[in-house]
Amino acid sequence: MTYTNSPIEKINFNNHEIFVKRDDLLDVDFSGNKARKFYYFLKHDFPNITNIVSHGSAQSNAMYSLSVLCKLRGWKFDYYVDHIASYIKESPSGNYKEALKNGMNIHEEEFPKQLDENTMFINEGGALKEAQYGLELLAQEIITWAEQNCYENLKVFLPSGTGTTALFLQKFLPFPVLTCACVGDEKYLEKQFNDLEKTNHPIILQRKKKYHFGKLYKEFYETHKDLLEQTNIEFDFLYDSLGFIVLEDYLNSLEDNNSKILYIHQGGILGNVSMIERYKHKYEKEV
Ligand SMILES: *Cc1c(COP(=O)(O)O)cnc(C)c1O
Repeated sequence: MTYTNSPIEKINFNNHEIFVKRDDLLDVDFSGNKARKFYYFLKHDFPNITNIVSHGSAQSNAMYSLSVLCKLRGWKFDYYVDHIASYIKESPSGNYKEALKNGMNIHEEEFPKQLDENTMFINEGGALKEAQYGLELLAQEIITWAEQNCYENLKVFLPSGTGTTALFLQKFLPFPVLTCACVGDEKYLEKQFNDLEKTNHPIILQRKKKYHFGKLYKEFYETHKDLLEQTNIEFDFLYDSLGFIVLEDYLNSLEDNNSKILYIHQGGILGNVSMIERYKHKYEKEV
């Protein structure tokens, strides 16, 4: 497995022509931006490492991808969460269920500050410098495609969590990278960029409304459904629904649009299983 060279497809969404980089199709198990961010740990030698420690939420895409990485590498995986909701414990689904199947040890406590020499710590959400190794490869694939098709005025769009993916894409791409904040607000995202690099930040497009990460919004559900109907591609609920809402507002605001847009599909589909259950429960009667 190479876990590189995902295809690029043209879609039409609400009368906008958009190219989509299908990083969701990199591999069945190891895909999306987490596969890009953790690619460094897949490809390098770590002779002393036997154990990975990370932390975050009990449903996160990063958690699942780390469980796959550890399985591929034969590493033990210890994951620390503040709290696991009782409904998740009682009926595990999505990322949580599959990560447990891959051998993840989950701990409901603070992650240890002191680690032995055989243990590597991976920051929440894969916000780390090493992520640029895989993201440079992603940027190269985009550059090659743009050159082959003579797309000189390309704009790349992707929704952000920690902003790591957008930041490192901007570092390696000669095109503007546009993004929006999905976790926290625009200020938080700017700070995340700054923690990793001081210059050459992506452009943050403003959201028209404040959203709280992980909460259910009817327009997210509807955007997800419209995307699926119009493009036949399943996008993620937490990031992509907001991403397309912000991107569409942006495209509608342009006076004349002669630049091509490339949207990065960052995977995360396994996480939809639990989101769909929650959305169905909430909106079943109305939609
Ligand atoms: C993790 C994730 C993101 C956010 O990536 P960052 O590099 O943290 O900005 C966006 N979309 C999906 C589907 C993800 O899983």
